[in-house]
Amino acid sequence: MNPRRWWFRRTLRFRITVVATGVAWLCLMALTSLAPSLIARVQISAVDSELTKAVALGSGPSVRVLDTAGAPLDGLPAPDLTPAEVRTLKSGRPVLREDGVSAMRWLGRVDTAPDGTPRLIAAGDTLVGYNGANDLGTRWLAVATALVALLVGIATWLSVRSSLRPVERMRVAAAQLPRGQRLPVPESQDELQALAEALNGLLARRDEATERLRRFTGDAAHELRSPVTSVRAQAEVAVAHPDPDFSLEVLESVVEESERLSELVDALLILARADSGELPRAEPVDLALQVHSAVDRMPPHDLLVQVAAPMSACMVSATRTEVELVVDNLVRNASRYATSLIRISVLPAVREIRLVVDDDGHGIPPEHWARVFDRFYRVEEHRGRASGGFGLGLALVAHLVRQRRGSVRVLDSPQGGARFEIRWPAYR
Ligand code: ADP
Repeated sequence: MNPRRWWFRRTLRFRITVVATGVAWLCLMALTSLAPSLIARVQISAVDSELTKAVALGSGPSVRVLDTAGAPLDGLPAPDLTPAEVRTLKSGRPVLREDGVSAMRWLGRVDTAPDGTPRLIAAGDTLVGYNGANDLGTRWLAVATALVALLVGIATWLSVRSSLRPVERMRVAAAQLPRGQRLPVPESQDELQALAEALNGLLARRDEATERLRRFTGDAAHELRSPVTSVRAQAEVAVAHPDPDFSLEVLESVVEESERLSELVDALLILARADSGELPRAEPVDLALQVHSAVDRMPPHDLLVQVAAPMSACMVSATRTEVELVVDNLVRNASRYATSLIRISVLPAVREIRLVVDDDGHGIPPEHWARVFDRFYRVEEHRGRASGGFGLGLALVAHLVRQRRGSVRVLDSPQGGARFEIRWPAYR
């Protein structure tokens, strides 16, 4: 098996323990291998400080006076020094002779005797157990290293196990979490607590989205039911009572209801697409131009429509379809409720462009202002009547504008009716 795959299939606890133990053991082993030279250096420097003093004074139990060939001048037996070692001492360098478990250290300097002849003052001392101490120390350190690594391993295993216990609790809870419930949040103020809180946030958002979707589907089904029922009832009556005049009447009404149905389905589709979170790339769209086109598209009417827009282009950041839908919906509502006048103004500013649609109809009472942009919300109940819509137009307007970081609001118009004010970010 691939070792990489094998490794990543082990539990987190196993991997953390192996890494921690391995690193601890390697570090201790490196220290152990350095230990002999460290111990030797400590031993030598201790002896050297004594010997340096003795050589400088030229007297002491360890001091020997020799001629430059190494022969004793102090009447004692010849020291255990080879000619090469004598030469080393004369040049001022120290001599270290390892010899079984111990070692011999010599320091020396050349001096002039009272009779003018050169002589060698040397001082030597035994480093007792020099090699033995090193071997023994190294062996004990190796044992201690293995023990400490084992301890590190056990401690890591236990602490990782206890740290991961909340994860296990969260996993068990998540596996059988009923709708609307949340994961247990650990009391410790650590990463796991943050993770549990983040997951709970996600669950809350999911529940909210599911609830929104449930409500939306219910409302949509409810809205679709009345035109479908009406078409069906009329068709059934026409089939039961075959009469050419009556059939034509039924067909006309079916056409009307079908138009309303397809309008509703179009709006539902746009909202469903918007809910999926896809946002088409924004492009510069001339709002003033779109307003003029929307007015030209209006079905025949006997209203006075005034447009106040600057001659220069007023570019908003959106897509053409979005701007068309927004302007069409507002103009259609205004024409539906206006008595005689609609006034549309395009007001550019530095960062945003305002679109204001006023009419002189009966307006919208302030208690409805907060809700007119909700889906399926209508001010007066005219559900199922061809004159009114499904309460999706303004919801669509609000969604299309807000998704571009714009804003929508409704006010009282100076003309006496309703004023809709849209703020779109300017394209820059
Ligand atoms: P609908 O398609 O049913 O008109 P909208 O979302 O466009 O739905 O409008 C929601 C409600 O707001 C409508 O039922 C209507 O009562 C009210 N409304 C919209 N525009 C105007 C307006 N210009 N004047 C008065 N009431 C309006």
